[in-house]
Amino acid sequence: MLFSIKPYERKIFEIIKQSAENLGYPVYIVGGYVRDRLLNRSSKDLDIVCVGSGIELAKAVSQQMRPVPRVTVYNRFGTAMLKHKDLEIEFVGARKESYRSDSRKPIVENGTLEDDQNRRDFTINALAVSLNEYDYGGLVDSFNGLSDLEKKIIRTPLDPEKTFSDDPLRMLRAIRFSTQLDFKIFPETFEALAKYKNRISIISKERITTELNKIVASDVPSIGFKHLFDTGLLQLVFPEMADLQGVEIRKGVGHKDNFYHTLEVLDNVCKVSDNLWLRWAAILHDIAKPSTKRFNDKVGWTFHGHDAVGAIMTARIFKRLRLPLDHKLKYVQKLVRLHLRPISLTKENISDSAIRRLLFDAGDDIDDLMILCKADITSKNEKKVARYLANYEIVIQKLKQVEEKDKIRNWQPPISGELIMSTFNLEPSRKVGDIKNAIREAILDGEIPNKYEAAFAFMHKKAEELGIN
Ligand code: ATP
Ligand code: MG
Repeated sequence: MLFSIKPYERKIFEIIKQSAENLGYPVYIVGGYVRDRLLNRSSKDLDIVCVGSGIELAKAVSQQMRPVPRVTVYNRFGTAMLKHKDLEIEFVGARKESYRSDSRKPIVENGTLEDDQNRRDFTINALAVSLNEYDYGGLVDSFNGLSDLEKKIIRTPLDPEKTFSDDPLRMLRAIRFSTQLDFKIFPETFEALAKYKNRISIISKERITTELNKIVASDVPSIGFKHLFDTGLLQLVFPEMADLQGVEIRKGVGHKDNFYHTLEVLDNVCKVSDNLWLRWAAILHDIAKPSTKRFNDKVGWTFHGHDAVGAIMTARIFKRLRLPLDHKLKYVQKLVRLHLRPISLTKENISDSAIRRLLFDAGDDIDDLMILCKADITSKNEKKVARYLANYEIVIQKLKQVEEKDKIRNWQPPISGELIMSTFNLEPSRKVGDIKNAIREAILDGEIPNKYEAAFAFMHKKAEELGIN
């Protein structure tokens, strides 16, 4: 073997070897597992190719294991899968594929190992390790995949134009692997990406988003988004993000390029958080800048309302990209809507009430909001950055003080609607809501302390004003 393997992996490889030998099948480990182990990355899925029936091999292997694992058979694909410890092992017969122009689903026939390697998307994904007696552990490297791994190159084994035209999902996979692994895309391969970008139209939104999410979850997602933009794919799959690119100059005044700014913010967030949805908030925080952009003779470029409009756009984008429409969308919308608040507080003297309102509005997401705000401080002007960072620290300190004092995070006002109704003998009505809101506002404004007695007295006062007693 070319790489170190765990004892239980060694055992399972022995079983696969024996079972395939009994069936008379040549057998190999292929694809992502070989690539990842050579790169010293962990790999949870193990793909086994045999020259024969993958389903029969899976069944034979399972019979040799204790306890005997369940074999899941995918008849439609001629594959079978079983789980062992943290490994998902997939068995497939070596195959040859040919494509029609309107679908990424190939016509499949049985083939040799070489046919099977030909159908793989990149040289680094076409490496195989033999599990056969005569060359056990030997690498089968028909396309110099090992050399590309060393040189950190993404390259298609065959003609890139055919590879991408056959299955356009591979275009996104090329960019995704280049981002995950920090590999360069080979020039000819890159050119083919740009040339065949329109073929992406036959790929489902779900598959596109799966690849986008893998880019977003990488250490430095900007690598992938720059490639997506430079090939023209971003304009097709996520046009709102591509629209952020560009600088307009009027009367000698320019604004920053919001695409590259967004990528900087995204990379900054990724240095400190693995939270995929916080990363999406970074991607979307300025998404409404193009649509809210105005030029004002006195103040130059403005983007008024891009925070609120951005939150609305976020919902549309999530829906179209088939991202989840549950609390994750709400969370991203909240961060987009609030992303200007912390720093804008520093433009005036920061009052306790402004901080209380921020804590009340952000709730448990205040820490994530502050990560986004800090990441959003990007400028070539070092003095500006230093000033904003100093302001940011002031807000952080203030947040701490106010939170310790007032405990506003996830706060519920001390007087409930029920108490208001029972005190004044009211049915559920607008008046109840008015009194409740007035109490909340009075506490957030610091007019009264966040205490039951004070709130109870205020409730009576407010009721009297409203003519209730
Ligand atoms: P990851 O598991 O991180 O997504 P992977 O390379 O293992 O990466 P899989 O989708 O698990 O990707 O596929 C396993 C192998 O199957 C790949 O390494 C590659 O050889 C082949 N493969 C997968 N998808 C395609 C495709 N669209 N076109 C050609 N070959 C593919
Ligand atoms: Mg895999």
